[in-house]
Amino acid sequence: MQPGLSFPMKILVLNSGSSSQKSALFELGPDSGDDPVPPLWEGKLEWSGDKEDLHIRNRSGQEIRHQSKAGVHRASVGTMLENLWSGSTAVLKSASGIAVAGHRIVHGGRKLTLSVRITPEVKREIENVAAIAPLHNQAGLEGNELIEKLLPNIPQIAVFDTGFHRTLPPEAFVYPLPYAWYERGIRRYGFHGINHEYCAHRTAQLLKRDLSSLKIITCHLGNGCSLAAIEAGKSIDTTMGFTPLEGLMMGTRSGSVDPGILIHILRGDPRDPRRNPRDAALIENVDHMLNHESGLLGISGASSDMREVLDAMRVGNERAQLAFDIFVYRLQAGIGAMAASLGGLDALVFTAGIGENSPEVRKAACSKFSFLGVQLDDARNSSAKPDAEISSTGSRVRVLVIRAQEDWAIAKECERLSDAASL
Ligand code: ADP
Repeated sequence: MQPGLSFPMKILVLNSGSSSQKSALFELGPDSGDDPVPPLWEGKLEWSGDKEDLHIRNRSGQEIRHQSKAGVHRASVGTMLENLWSGSTAVLKSASGIAVAGHRIVHGGRKLTLSVRITPEVKREIENVAAIAPLHNQAGLEGNELIEKLLPNIPQIAVFDTGFHRTLPPEAFVYPLPYAWYERGIRRYGFHGINHEYCAHRTAQLLKRDLSSLKIITCHLGNGCSLAAIEAGKSIDTTMGFTPLEGLMMGTRSGSVDPGILIHILRGDPRDPRRNPRDAALIENVDHMLNHESGLLGISGASSDMREVLDAMRVGNERAQLAFDIFVYRLQAGIGAMAASLGGLDALVFTAGIGENSPEVRKAACSKFSFLGVQLDDARNSSAKPDAEISSTGSRVRVLVIRAQEDWAIAKECERLSDAASL
């Protein structure tokens, strides 16, 4: 362990997204155990349009809620973090109380799979990944630079969302495209790995089983959605691919579609005299439509938020009903594919915003799998407070709802690396 680090240590986690910045401060040490603990302090900034929403709370119950005109993201994050040591939510005497910072980095590419201390070489490698994933790592790198300025002497750790899927076999990660494309780095990487891995460990813990004996499908259903097939604690298949666009239908992302559709759209209408299929603006527009105007929002026309889709469906909105039906149909198809990859199934896990909170989605998803031995207990399902089991007592496949704990999992990685004297 680096001189100056002592247990228990205060670990600051930065979870940077394109339109939100979550941050949490944990106190962990070798005796903290394997059960997730709540953070001492957590803050969240969300940007939509020209608005910025700030929500901070600490473990003693003090809260700040504030809406303002969106400023420069980096400056707003800096101001949010100052509330760790000043003002009504402060839990530290000064910034120097923070021992380590951990960052969620979306894409580690081929080389960065295990959590690692951020050195200039690691940073360069994260930047290199931008060649294959231009949009993914920017927010994470900005978080890293902010901490470098704020706390220049503390170690910073990168934890990769792609890392857990490093164990995929070639038949799962190589696309049936020209092989030279694979050699250029075009392959399935998979995402949401921090939470898929956490859920696998938590499942073994809750079922009091050895992880090495379990075949698990984890369904991460939030704004982004993905499945993982996990055998003996290792990811062997997953629905997201080269980018987080592949696989299931999501809030605003299409998930898998016939790639021929894209070619058709990019070719444009041959009767249009202004047509230029190489037009960069057209490509940007297709990218925008697939990532931000598709999924639940694109079909329902009402919202990307599952709660609002369900509300609209209940008052007879047919497009909301169609959005829900496609979401469930594709989820079932994905679960079926993951079960085939595993060649069996011991546990089916629902996690993240929709997975944790929507009994309707869980019930509909499970309804096709009685032939695999999935039996849901309706009462348990409708009243489940994660972490909870929702399968009936005799169900051969155990069905669980597990709260996503990405921030805690990142903090735990920081603690593990500190303990292993890797810093
Ligand atoms: P992110 O992927 O951005 O972290 P979350 O995991 O918070 O997102 O998931 C957001 C999704 O969870 C939204 O579609 C939201 O509607 C859905 N959700 C949250 N609460 C409920 C609920 N009670 N019922 C159905 N869906 C819910």
